[in-house]
Amino acid sequence: MNFVQSVKDFLALIYPEGCEVCSQSLVNGESCICSTCWYELPKTGFYRDKENPMTRIFWGRVDIVSGTALFHYQKGGKVQDLIHRLKYKGQQEIGCYLGMRLGHYMLESSIYRHLDSIIPVPLHPEKQRMRGFNQSEVFGEGLSRILGVPLNTRVLQRLSATSSQTRKRRFMRWENVESAFSLNNTSILENKHVLLVDDVITTGATMEACANKLLTAAGVKVYLASIGVTV
Ligand SMILES: [Zn+2]
Repeated sequence: MNFVQSVKDFLALIYPEGCEVCSQSLVNGESCICSTCWYELPKTGFYRDKENPMTRIFWGRVDIVSGTALFHYQKGGKVQDLIHRLKYKGQQEIGCYLGMRLGHYMLESSIYRHLDSIIPVPLHPEKQRMRGFNQSEVFGEGLSRILGVPLNTRVLQRLSATSSQTRKRRFMRWENVESAFSLNNTSILENKHVLLVDDVITTGATMEACANKLLTAAGVKVYLASIGVTV
């Protein structure tokens, strides 16, 4: 253990970590978010029902089995603040923690029993280089730990903004998220149950584009999970 880590551990003993929502000190058994804040956060409970307001976003658009989000998402709300800390302040532990919490809920549901793989929505390569990590991947890592399902960060890729396809798209003044992703291997997804994960679902356009790519593999079943959803 290096000196800096020793000092950090020592400080953690004197000044216990605070809740990421209210900043109050966490007590024994709590991590990341205190019990009071956890109770008050707007959880969806969508994991219980195969058909729910989140899956309805995709009806008539893309054939998914079911989807769940941990929280209802509102602009200016506590969930937005948590996701902001995760994405822009580098607090990756929040994403992992929320993935683990959602994973525990999903274990209670029979819907997600047969998952083979967890696939995070990829970031633009330039954005990932700047941020240093992909928030959806960190969230997926938390889910993976609890569900015991491996994370696959390679099979689905986001095309670089400098790729010829994107340049062509810009030239045509035609933006379509549909063409922003590519699948580099369809055979490993054949007949698999795949959980596609993202941080927030608003219009559902990104998830729809990614799910459509995954569905090019024969017999694949797609499920969705996110931290927040605007329904
Ligand atoms: Zn709190």
